[in-house]
Amino acid sequence: MEKLKPCPFCGGSDIDIRTDDAGLSWYSFCNGCGVSCGYSITKDDVMNAWNMRVPTIEPVKHGKWIEIDIKDYKALCSECGTWSPVMGKFCPECGARMDGE
Ligand SMILES: [Zn+2]
Ligand SMILES: [Zn+2]
Repeated sequence: MEKLKPCPFCGGSDIDIRTDDAGLSWYSFCNGCGVSCGYSITKDDVMNAWNMRVPTIEPVKHGKWIEIDIKDYKALCSECGTWSPVMGKFCPECGARMDGE
């Protein structure tokens, strides 16, 4: 099994490759900060996508979750305006650190 690089957001190495509830697609999930990325139908693709993503990390920007939808468990990033399926310390879309004003 190919090794996964540490998380680009929190630097953690506790990365899971999981399947969705239906078992049809795979995604990567960081246990450290809750970031996930790379939905794909094969595990290899997800792992490659995760490893590809690491060097592309931008300098940390700061943002906050400006809206939170409890029902669908998602939150709106103030930096990129994307609804995120996780409410971690970082936006999985743009990498903003959620400690802004
Ligand atoms: Zn992480
Ligand atoms: Zn964002």
